[in-house]
Amino acid sequence: MSGAPSVLWLRRDLRRGDLPALGAAAGAGAQVCVVFVLDPSLWANAGRARRAWLAATLRATERAYDGRLCLRAGDPRTVVPDLVRELGAASVHVSRETTPVGRRRDAQVRQALDDAGVDWVETGSPYAVGPGSVLNGSGDPYKVFTPFSRAWRDHGWPRPATEPTGLRLAQVASEDRAWDLVDAALAEPDLPHLPEAGEGAALRRWAEFLDDSLAAYGTDRDRADLDGVSRLSPYLKIGAVHPRTLLADVADRGARGDQRSEGAARFTTELAWREFYADVLWHQPGSAWHDLRPALAGMAYESPAGLVETWRRGRTGYPAVDAAMRQLLAEGWMHNRMRMVTASFLTKDLHVWWPVGARHFLDHLIDGDVASNNHGWQWVAGTGTDASPYFRVFNPVTQGLRFDPHGDYVRRYVPELRHLPGKAVHEPWKHEDGYLHGYPEPIVDHAAERHEALRRYDAVRATS
Ligand code: FAD
Repeated sequence: MSGAPSVLWLRRDLRRGDLPALGAAAGAGAQVCVVFVLDPSLWANAGRARRAWLAATLRATERAYDGRLCLRAGDPRTVVPDLVRELGAASVHVSRETTPVGRRRDAQVRQALDDAGVDWVETGSPYAVGPGSVLNGSGDPYKVFTPFSRAWRDHGWPRPATEPTGLRLAQVASEDRAWDLVDAALAEPDLPHLPEAGEGAALRRWAEFLDDSLAAYGTDRDRADLDGVSRLSPYLKIGAVHPRTLLADVADRGARGDQRSEGAARFTTELAWREFYADVLWHQPGSAWHDLRPALAGMAYESPAGLVETWRRGRTGYPAVDAAMRQLLAEGWMHNRMRMVTASFLTKDLHVWWPVGARHFLDHLIDGDVASNNHGWQWVAGTGTDASPYFRVFNPVTQGLRFDPHGDYVRRYVPELRHLPGKAVHEPWKHEDGYLHGYPEPIVDHAAERHEALRRYDAVRATS
């Protein structure tokens, strides 16, 4: 049994179960110091909702580790080597980071540890299949989703990891000021209504979804008014649950051939999108903030500050768009169908370049994830992989009528329209009392802006 402790540095893996890096850290029988470092530069950029979500998850993680989560604040490039020196640790264990920012930071921390003769050990990643691992027959990455998802399934993934036996957690003092930051984030006034945080809450939500919603997931997942999706994205983002755990459960359902198997297959495909976008970002880090495909490089965009602000606040006069934008502010989350509708509105009705919208989403989404978010935006904008063709312009009224057919979603988030019954909420202009309670009239004419978007598209194509 080794005397020197090892350090497990948690980042996007705030859980105790199904965590291969924990097994690796405990492997030599050493005591494990579990640490999280609040990095002021990431903390300041996270937005209030995401900070509160991280803060609540840190509190839950501390409980999950029996009060032995060491919390430090500062630049990890100095905090981690300092902690290693303080403990005389022999190794630092992590789940591999895959975003451009995380990879850069890890390379620097690793270098500092190498110089000090301390081992840096990466075990697993936030994905079932590590980004960069799925390649085609020529050894190249896949550029479109469907062949990627097939190869991804063929590649396969291990069963969930079990907790190491005889785990000994080191008791290492946290910094009070770090917990003060956490508590301040939780005490901010007017925070969105957030779900319960932590691994236990994630697994409870998952069990509920498996029992109540997986069977109908294939059909209900597009309905904004129903509780038809898992809402696990905030937990996946922060690593309170690993996709391997979910995939093992859905595979069991599928293998049993029960009525849920169709939903299970569809759910697996959605997780594959998450893996695909991480893989794209791994190979092309520049796609985080730049058009992935240059096809629309010459597109004419607008920067209408006032109109963008009405979009942000949910005051566009298009009920489905406004309900969704207000859901984002109220809950730090938005239904997938409505992410597409609101993104289309910004890019095609207001002619704004997608990074403006992607930034706003990242500021407010508690599942805000640069790979899924920015590539989701690019998909809608027509600049990404498998891009929805640019000429596909979502009609905010018909999308509302189709995916919120009884108007319940709009009434939930737009009180000025609550007096309108059923689907009438989607077209207040058709009702004499539609504007009785101060709901705004449409800020643009969708039919005219659709026409304008297509004109701009044709102009780019003619010159490229
Ligand atoms: P479910 O339908 O229950 O799906 C299960 C899981 O599969 C999700 O939690 C998610 O991890 C994954 N998934 C589902 N759909 C997608 C998808 N289209 N792309 C990637 N992964 C998917 N997802 C994020 O996790 N973070 C983001 O910041 C984000 N921003 C988006 C921005 C835009 C413009 C668009 C169009 C999509 C975005 N998505 C993002 C993808 C998707 O909207 C969310 O993952 C989904 O709405 C989360 O809800 P859920 O957990 O109930 O999903």
